[in-house]
Amino acid sequence: MIVSFKLKHLLGILLVSVLVVVLGLTIYKEIKPTTQFLKPMQEICVVIDAGHGGIDGGSVGKITGVYESELNLKFAKNLKERLEEMNISCYLTRQDDNGLYDSSAKNLKRSDMKKRKEIIEGISPKLVVSLHMNSFPLSSSRGVQTFYKKGNEQGCNLANSIQKQLSSSLIAKQNTGKVGDFYIVNCTEIPSVLIECGFLSNAEDEKLLISQDYQNKFCYLVMCGIVDYLNN
Ligand SMILES: [Zn+2]
Repeated sequence: MIVSFKLKHLLGILLVSVLVVVLGLTIYKEIKPTTQFLKPMQEICVVIDAGHGGIDGGSVGKITGVYESELNLKFAKNLKERLEEMNISCYLTRQDDNGLYDSSAKNLKRSDMKKRKEIIEGISPKLVVSLHMNSFPLSSSRGVQTFYKKGNEQGCNLANSIQKQLSSSLIAKQNTGKVGDFYIVNCTEIPSVLIECGFLSNAEDEKLLISQDYQNKFCYLVMCGIVDYLNN
C-alpha cells in the first residue's frame, strides 16, 4: 500500500513537471517569433545624408528664398523619425546647418564630400539615402526623381522601390529609379540612392516642399519604399 501511494505521488509530480515543461515551451514558442523579428530590424542601419550645408546652400526657392540645404535637413530628420518608428536605426551625416568640410581645406566642396564618404565607410550601413532639392532653368520642370549608381543592382532595386511608392501618390518624373552620376552614390558599393525631392525652380513644387504635411507624407512614402526593399 505504501509503495503504491509513493508511486502515485511520484507519478503525480512527474505529470505536473511534464505539464510545466510543455506549457513553458508553448509560451516560448509564442514569444520567439517576435524577438526574432525585432532583433535583425534593430541591427539595420540607414545612413541619411542631407545634401549641402554651411556656405553651400544648394538651390534656392524662387518664391520664398528657402535654401535647399535647410529643406534637405528637415526631410532627413523627418525620415529618420519615420524609420526609427519601424525599429530601423539611422545615422544622419549632418544634424545641423553646418557643412561637413574642414574650413581650412583649399577645396571646401571636395572636403565636404570626402567626409560624407568617410562616414558611410565607417558605418558600413545596409543602405544610404541622400536627400536633395532640384532646380532647372525651365520653371515648368517638376516632380520627384530617385537616382542610383550605374551597374549597382541593389541600388537600382532600392531606387525602384522608393520611386514606386513616391510616384503612387505624388507628382513624379517617372515611376522607377534612374541612373545618376552623383558623387554620393558613386563613392560606395553599398546600395545608395539620391532623391531629388522636387524642383525649387517650380512654384507648385516649392509650395509643397516647404509644407509640413507634404514633408510628412513624402518621408512616410520613402520609409515604405525602404521597408519594401528590405523585406525583399
Ligand atoms: Zn542638391
